[in-house]
Amino acid sequence: MISPIKLYNTLTKQAEEFVPIVPNKVGMYSCGPTVYWHQHLGNMRTFISNDIIKRMFLANGYDVAHVINLTDVGHLANDEEDEGDDKMERKAKEEGRSVWDIAKEYTESFVSDIADLNVISPTYMPRATDFIAEQIEQIQKLEDLGFAYVIPEKGVYYDTSKFADYGKLSGQDLSKLRGGERVDTTGKRNHTDFLLWGFSPNDGTKREMEWESPWGIGWPGWSIECTAMGTKLLGANFDIHTGGQEHINIHHTNEIAQQEPSIAHKPWVHTWVHFGWLMGKDAKLSKSAGDALTVPLLKSKGYDPMAFRYMMLMGSYRSPMDFTWDALDAAAQGYKNIVKKVADIRRGVLHTPSGASIAPLQYEGWKNKILSAVNDNLKTAVALSVLQELLSDDATDAATKLEVIRFVDELLGLQFMDRAQKLLDAGDVAVPSEIVALADARAAAKAAKDWARADELRAEIDRAGYAVVDTPDGFQLGKK
Ligand code: AMP
Ligand code: ZN
Repeated sequence: MISPIKLYNTLTKQAEEFVPIVPNKVGMYSCGPTVYWHQHLGNMRTFISNDIIKRMFLANGYDVAHVINLTDVGHLANDEEDEGDDKMERKAKEEGRSVWDIAKEYTESFVSDIADLNVISPTYMPRATDFIAEQIEQIQKLEDLGFAYVIPEKGVYYDTSKFADYGKLSGQDLSKLRGGERVDTTGKRNHTDFLLWGFSPNDGTKREMEWESPWGIGWPGWSIECTAMGTKLLGANFDIHTGGQEHINIHHTNEIAQQEPSIAHKPWVHTWVHFGWLMGKDAKLSKSAGDALTVPLLKSKGYDPMAFRYMMLMGSYRSPMDFTWDALDAAAQGYKNIVKKVADIRRGVLHTPSGASIAPLQYEGWKNKILSAVNDNLKTAVALSVLQELLSDDATDAATKLEVIRFVDELLGLQFMDRAQKLLDAGDVAVPSEIVALADARAAAKAAKDWARADELRAEIDRAGYAVVDTPDGFQLGKK
């Protein structure tokens, strides 16, 4: 029996059994990178967690439509107060380059980092600047419904006093949120009101990114991009929305306020998932603080990015985790130990032509135990401890073990089989992958009773200096 999928929902503040809007389909939106610099390892923790959610749904037979957006406009330096420079424009000025150039460089860096971490590419990776019309349309709708007002020379703002449910995601008292101790000098009606459309300055300076709108030339506020693109790509309602925990109080609260007034079915998003931060020495890792812990840095120091992924999966996704080099070293060692055990199983023994020699009941038993752990609100550390049990279980044959490990690779994306093969390829007693392929082909020929072909392949293996010996599990391969 596989446990049902349960996820902790920030909206209801409990772990809930997942019920899709459309059977066997999941629409999921993940707040993506602001592309003015490299993404740090904290950001990567979030994208690994997103990837586990996606892999879990795939392993349970769902079709997943996944959006990770690229914020290339409108994210202000002070996003709590909705004030300050646009992070993209500021960086471009500092470097004397065009904003578009900056966006391109850091988008490429993001794509390369998630590939190194074996994060499955999202179905859609929309750029905010490609969806300006949709954002204007959404602001227009809010204005028509009476939720928007203009502050001259500043922009179009959302009036949070008009949306009764404003505090529902954060669970905070609205009056406290709205009033605050500070006297608002920005011209906003309520302290929590936020920018939907900013006006370009009329002091002679010019923004690089700006567009015409019904309210004047300007640029979209930060949160409107996520509602506009989510709606366009996933529909008026969708299943899951994710992001780091700092987005609960403002960005995601604002997204809900933007979408719910104009849709028939509420809540807009059924499950809100928020990830714990990866912490630096004293604080959350953050790009604005200039934290330079990145995937390329790990690689330059000789770490396998899988060691970092393994470290993240040993923690609980909602809890904060400290990043230290010692902790990463321990994780790297733990990861290598598993890879070595997998290589020991792979070395010599094995193959499973058409899966015939695995023990199906045992395989299902292990697989269900591992999948159940992940289905239970992403208990990846428990899944990894079941894997450890499997590796040292004498009652499970090698072929079955390898089949389970292949499943773990699909589910957790830790590339154990690949790294084990690399270890075998590199070692003294390594059997190169071409020879393993020959032996696999021979096993397949035998299974098809093509004895002549099987003999030819054995001769070829022999000429290359290796020997193949049949075993009850499959075969053993080694140097002659
Ligand atoms: P950003 O590029 O800053 O907009 O962030 C991209 C994603 O990473 C967002 O979902 C953030 O919430 C998340 N994030 C930012 N800092 C951290 C951190 N230290 N730990 C975990 N996730 C983070
Ligand atoms: Zn967002």
